Formats: sequence, structure tokens, C-alpha cells
Amino acid sequence: MLSFWEKDSFYADADIAIIGAGLMGLWAALEIKKHSPGTTVTILERSSTPLGASTRNAGFACFGSLTELLSDEKNMGTNAMLEIVEMRYKGIEKIKSTFSSEQIDLDKCGGYEALGPINWAGEINDRINYINQLLTSITGKANCFSNASNQMSSIGLKNFDHLIFNPLEAGIHSGKLVSALTQLAIEKGIRILNGIEIIGWEKLNDKISIRSNQKKSIQANRLLICTNGFTNELIPSLAIEPARGQIILTAPIKGLSTKGTFHFDEGFYYWRNLGDRILLGGARNSDFSNERTTNLDGSELIRQKLVEFLNTHLDTTASINIEQSWSGIMGFTENKLPLFQQIESNVSVSIACNGMGVALTPVFAEKVALELLN
Ligand SMILES: Cc1cc2nc3c(=O)[nH]c(=O)nc-3n(C[C@H](O)[C@H](O)[C@H](O)COP(=O)(O)OP(=O)(O)OC[C@H]3O[C@@H](n4cnc5c(N)ncnc54)[C@H](O)[C@@H]3O)c2cc1C
Repeated sequence: MLSFWEKDSFYADADIAIIGAGLMGLWAALEIKKHSPGTTVTILERSSTPLGASTRNAGFACFGSLTELLSDEKNMGTNAMLEIVEMRYKGIEKIKSTFSSEQIDLDKCGGYEALGPINWAGEINDRINYINQLLTSITGKANCFSNASNQMSSIGLKNFDHLIFNPLEAGIHSGKLVSALTQLAIEKGIRILNGIEIIGWEKLNDKISIRSNQKKSIQANRLLICTNGFTNELIPSLAIEPARGQIILTAPIKGLSTKGTFHFDEGFYYWRNLGDRILLGGARNSDFSNERTTNLDGSELIRQKLVEFLNTHLDTTASINIEQSWSGIMGFTENKLPLFQQIESNVSVSIACNGMGVALTPVFAEKVALELLN
């Protein structure tokens, strides 16, 4: 049983309760406060620190590689592709205007896409020019992408055929970003309760009574669920597919010349330097079925694939030792786009989803907040 004091402070009724204190929940809470400072917001997070994707990702502030944008254009049409690029681009700009570079270790290193053999090698510059033209109105830059294949060896890579550079992408420190957002949320009067796992809710008169696993409940007028890859546990009917992403981090590599953020194979492999270390993630496509899980224990098979990838593509004579590895859980909607949906009256979900939540959440949260406050 809660005491009167607890019930009247930490667990007081909120106008809006949010489940999940990852990037989506935090940005959504901040946007609600921005548009309606008097609205009370409580975030309910089951872990002591957010535990899903936001603090376990690779920290790429990216808005889409050349081949991804070409493929998106083919699948969803030019306007839809540009709409999502714009959201991501503006998201990165918003992060930069909200926090100083020092607060989030922003590294304006640029992003690369590495390519193996392609049957359109002769058209690569034409395709770069084509996408550049489309993106100019978003980025204000005439040449967002450029062919950097001749830098392959100076950048310390091997066994790729092409390299495409985008100077507008960056790396950030994922832990510092979430920590800075959490701090900002607290400053804005958003209440964050950690260690409270939500197991359900029911309507009680005009309110929603949100139940936790500790017999502590809170009441709110509206509920927003930002549980990403774990959403199936609460709302199986939405069929959000969990996808585990694994990462390895090397010990410092002597003379490392690889600097920047990198993608390969439709983003199934991604790596960046962290000082003179390499952080590499991906390889989920080597074992899709077993990686469709919310279990945070990594798999040895994927880890081996990642090590193999490093040995094949990092052009160094120095020894490569793996110092750390971890995994995080993504959540995918069917069309791989972010989802905002009302699932019953006054209860909505917002799934940042896919591999680009860093860039997407800041702007998607604006839409979510406006819908909720409507
Ligand atoms: C390995 C990996 C690498 C990635 N790399 C990048 C990258 O470089 N760039 C990029 O833009 N994106 C990347 N992403 C994707 C990005 O991290 C996500 O899109 C984003 O973090 C999603 O944020 P979220 O708040 O929706 O989800 P999450 O961060 O997963 O937050 C969900 C929160 O809900 C909480 N929760 C779940 N169930 C309950 C419950 N019942 N009660 C209370 N709390 C609950 C969880 O504890 C968690 O803290 C990567 C993801 C992974 C896994």
C-alpha cells in the first residue's frame, strides 16, 4: 500500500503517463511540456536506467545511406522517402540545437556507406547526383553524397569495392544523450519513476488506472506506450517484431586510421571509431529467426560473424582484441516506419522503431505530443 505522502507526490495522478524512458518516451514527454507546460507528465520505466535500444545502440546520427534511399524511393515513392529523410535530418539538427557537442560527445565525423560488387557501378555517380538533387531542399547542400572510393585504403578499409561519403552525419554518445534528456525532463518538471514494470491498465471512471508488478498503481487521463521492442508483452495484437542488435567493441588499435560512421549491406553491418577503438554491430541477417527476441544475452554465432567481418575489412597490421560486447532490442513495425496509433480511447502507442531512432524520435515526438494534446 502506498502511503498518503507517496500517493500525493511520486505516484500522484498525471494528465499523461508514459511507459518507457527511452528516447521515444523522453522526447515525447519533453514535447508535451513544450506545447503545454501545465500538463503533468509521469514516465514509468521498469529498469533503473532505460533498458532497450536507446542506451545500447551504436550512436549514429544518420539519415539514410545512398542505397537505402534509392531502395526506399522504389518501395514507398519519392515523396514518402523524402518525408522520412526530412524527419531524420531535422531530428539530428534538433539534437544539436538542444545539447552542446560536449554534453553528448557529438563527433561531426561524417558517415560512409561501403559497397561490395554492384551491377550499377558505371552509374554510381549518376545515382549520387540524382539523390543529391532530391535532398538539396532538405539539407541546403548541393552535394550531400560524394564518391569516396579512392579513400578506401587511407581510411583503413579493405575488401569493399566502393565508398560513398556524407559529411552531414555524425556520431554521438548514446549514454550521454539519454542522460542529458533525462536531466532536461526532470528540469521541466516531468516525473520519472524507475523500477516500475507496467503489467496492464484499466479504465476507472474517466481515468486510466495503470497497474505495476509491485501493487503500485498510478492514474492518468491519457496513457502513451513507448516500449518499442517489448510492446508485444503489453499489446500482442500490435505485432511489433522484436529484433536483437549485437555490438562488439575492440580494445584500442594501434595506428587506427578508420574515422567516421560506416554502413554496409543495407545497414546490416555498421561500425564507427570511438577514439582508437572500433565499435561494430549487426550481422542479424545471419540468424534472423534467433535474433527475433527480447533476450538481451548475445549469441556467440553473431559475435563470431562480427569478428570475422572486422578481420576481413579492417586494413591494419595491429592486433584486434575484443574488449566488450552487448546487445539491445529494436522494435519493427510491419512497414518499418515509426508508428503512432490510438489503440483504445485515451491509450496510444508510439513506436520509434528501426535502426534510426536517434534521428527520428526528436521530430516524431512533436507529432505524438500534438496528437495527444489535441
Ligand atoms: C544494437 C542497436 C544499434 C542501434 N544503432 C542505432 C544508431 O546507431 N542510430 C540510430 O538512430 N538508432 C540506432 N538504433 C535504434 C535506436 O536505438 C532505437 O530506434 C531507439 O532507441 C528506440 O527508442 P525507444 O524509446 O522507442 O525504445 P527503447 O530505448 O527500447 O525504450 C523502451 C523502454 O521501455 C521500457 N519498458 C519496456 N516494457 C516496459 C514495461 N512493461 N514497463 C515499464 N517500462 C518498460 C524499457 O525498459 C525501455 O527502457 C539501434 C538499436 C540497437 C538495438
